[in-house]
Amino acid sequence: MRRVLITGGAGFIGSHLCRRFLDDGNEVVCMDNLLTGRLENIADLSGRDGFLFVKHDVTNFIHIPGDLDVVLHFASPASPTDFEKFPIQILKVGALGTHKVLGVAKDKGARFLLASTSECYGDPEVNPQPEGYWGNVNPIGIRGVYDEAKRFAEAMTMAYHRYHRVDTRIVRIFNTYGPAMRPDDGRMIPTFFTQALRGEDLTVFGDGSQTRSINYVSDLIEGICRLLDSDYTDPVNIGNPEEMTVVEVAERVLRTTGSRSQIVFRELPADDPKVRRPDIRLAEKVLGWSPAITPDEGLNLTLRYFEAQMGSRSS
Ligand code: NAD
Repeated sequence: MRRVLITGGAGFIGSHLCRRFLDDGNEVVCMDNLLTGRLENIADLSGRDGFLFVKHDVTNFIHIPGDLDVVLHFASPASPTDFEKFPIQILKVGALGTHKVLGVAKDKGARFLLASTSECYGDPEVNPQPEGYWGNVNPIGIRGVYDEAKRFAEAMTMAYHRYHRVDTRIVRIFNTYGPAMRPDDGRMIPTFFTQALRGEDLTVFGDGSQTRSINYVSDLIEGICRLLDSDYTDPVNIGNPEEMTVVEVAERVLRTTGSRSQIVFRELPADDPKVRRPDIRLAEKVLGWSPAITPDEGLNLTLRYFEAQMGSRSS
């Protein structure tokens, strides 16, 4: 049994982590300020033994009584629409928040895992993206607040690892989707599902030829658990290497929902990555990990969730 702090635990990925660690017999302290997370994501956990929710902004001083064995730092808005809504909060949680949460791990002698992102690679000049690629990020663009906050968070994590000898892990997460996403959070898959189930046009940015690789959340959670329990301290990509265009993602959602909605095109936001595909050879080698759920299986599992969220049935 381990005692685990999960920041951002009421969010999409964080709530799955809370459930997984509780199911595995651990105690979980879930810390979240509910900026983009929701209590309904953890409603089923609140009565369970060993689960504690603490509403707190991790950019402020953190006090947690008792021991901690593991600290998972997942607090941060993550949707492109958040980049314009919460630019300062994103920079603060990536910088000040990561510093505070690393301080907790150091103080408690706990293992620390940072949720980093494929956005560290920016608009990449290499495809697929291996961990050794340093990225192509515009620091002053609208996406810069997120990309640079995460790059700073990685640098801070490695500094605590090298200087303070904190036992750290870094996962670079590629586009992940599944139940517990907010239907209106502005990310591609919730937006397509919501539009398809409402019979509205699916809005694709640009000509939709930019590529993405979508990973189902249970595969990500398994990868994170394996990384945490490994001895590997440099960043590891976790994502599904099946690359598809954004138009193909929209078409798959239309097929999954059986919707007769049309696809329409809107102006491409600045610095939108043209390609995105994880090189997962490192995860395969050091974690024995590769995704088990195909995109079509994952989209079917996700459909049931969005139908329930919207109280609707596919047409
Ligand atoms: P999310 O918005 O659902 O979850 C983020 C959570 O962090 C929310 O519950 C939010 O309320 C909380 N939070 C934000 N600022 C906070 C603060 N200052 N103090 C305490 N809590 C705060 O997003 P998600 O998709 O679950 O992302 C979780 C983590 O994974 C983030 O760090 C994100 O950058 C990373 N990530 C996600 C993806 C993805 O595809 N979902 C990809 C790459 C990286």
